Amino acid sequence: MLVRYRYRLCPSPGQQQALAKVFGCARVVFNDCLRLREECHAAGEVISDSEVQRQVITLAKAIPEREWLAEAPSVALVQACNDARRAYRNWFDSPVGKRKGRRIGRPRPRRKHGRQSIRLTRNGFSLRGERLYVAKVGEICVRWSRPLPSVPSSVTVIKEPDGRYYASFVVDRQAAPLPVGDREAGIDVGLDRLVVTSDGEIIANPRFLRAKERTLARAQRALSRTAKGSANRAKARRRVAVLHRKVRDTRLDHAHKTAIRLVRDNQAVYAEDLAVSGLARTRLAKSVHDAGWAQLLRLLAEKAEHYGRTFHRIGRFVPSSQTCSACGMNDGPKPLSVRTWTCAACGAAHDRDVNAARNILAAGRAERLNACGGDVRPRHAVAAAGEAGTHRGAA
Ligand SMILES: [Zn+2]
Repeated sequence: MLVRYRYRLCPSPGQQQALAKVFGCARVVFNDCLRLREECHAAGEVISDSEVQRQVITLAKAIPEREWLAEAPSVALVQACNDARRAYRNWFDSPVGKRKGRRIGRPRPRRKHGRQSIRLTRNGFSLRGERLYVAKVGEICVRWSRPLPSVPSSVTVIKEPDGRYYASFVVDRQAAPLPVGDREAGIDVGLDRLVVTSDGEIIANPRFLRAKERTLARAQRALSRTAKGSANRAKARRRVAVLHRKVRDTRLDHAHKTAIRLVRDNQAVYAEDLAVSGLARTRLAKSVHDAGWAQLLRLLAEKAEHYGRTFHRIGRFVPSSQTCSACGMNDGPKPLSVRTWTCAACGAAHDRDVNAARNILAAGRAERLNACGGDVRPRHAVAAAGEAGTHRGAA
C-alpha cells in the first residue's frame, strides 16, 4: 500500500535560493496551465493535455519572458502541469456529478506567499547516501527521523509558510497484520471529546492543544490589526505560521496515537461518514475541528489497512443521537447542550455520545452484514467454521 513518509530538510542558503527558483517556475507553469485551459474553454475550443504541456513548457521556454523556466528540472514542470490538469478536471467534473464528494471550487492560481511545493518522480530526484539529490538544486541534507520502508517512487519538496522545508516521500509499505481479535467498536467523533467509543471510552482533545488554539486565535487577531505591507505585518504573519505548525503537529500527533489505539484494540471500527453526519451539514463543519475529524478518519483507514483490520464508514445518515441504543425508539432531536437523557420507552439512561457510538456500531454491523451476504463473524471464526466443514461451500 502506498503511504507518505515525511522528513525535515535542511537546505543550505544556496540550495534555498535554487529551490525558490524551482518553486517559482512550477507555480508559473501551474498558473499558465489554468489560464490556457480557461481561455480555450471560453473560446469553445478543445485542447489536449499534451498540447497544454507543449505550450506552457516547451514553447514557453523559447520566449524571453519565460526562458528562465529552463532553470527548473523539467519533471517538476511536467508535474505542475499534471496538478493543474487534475485541479481543473476535478472542478469541471464536480457539478455534473461525475465526481463523488463535496463540490470542488474553481482552481485558484498558486500564490507567491504561503506553502510552496514541487513534485518529482524518479528522474528528478535520487537518494545519495544520507542526502536527497534534487535535479538543478543539489544534494540536500535530510533529517532521517525514521528509516524509509522501501525505495520511494516520488517525492514532494515543500516549503511551509513558517520557512521550514520538508520532503514527503511516496513509498510502498508492506502490510503487517495484527492477530485477529473479536472486539468491535463504533465511534462518535465530536468537538469537545475527539472520540467517544461504544464501550464508553472517552478520548478528549488534549488540553495543551486547546491552549495552543487559543494562542493562535490571539495571534491571528494581532495579525489582522497590522498595516498591510509593514514590517510588523511580516513578523506577525510569521508568528501565525509558526503557531499554525505547532497546532497542526500537535493535532496530527494526537490523531496518530488515537487511531493506532482504536485499531489495535478493535478488529473493526465503525464511524459516521462526515459527508452524511448531521454535524457536517451545519455551520460547525466550517470550524477548525473539521480538518481534525477528516484527518483522524483518514489515519484510521490507513492504519486499519496496514494492520489487517476493518475501518468502515456508515454510508447513510443515521439519527444516532436521537435513537435509544437499547430499545431503538426515536426520541426526537435534542439540542447539543443535552449531554445525558433517559429513554422514555425503556428507561435506559444514556450519555449522548456513548449512545451515538453504540448506534453507529449497530448501523455499521448491519451495513457490512448486507454487503457481505450475512457473514460478519470475525475472520478467525469463519476460518475455523470452514475447517470444520460447516461453512457454506468452500469457494
Ligand atoms: Zn430505550
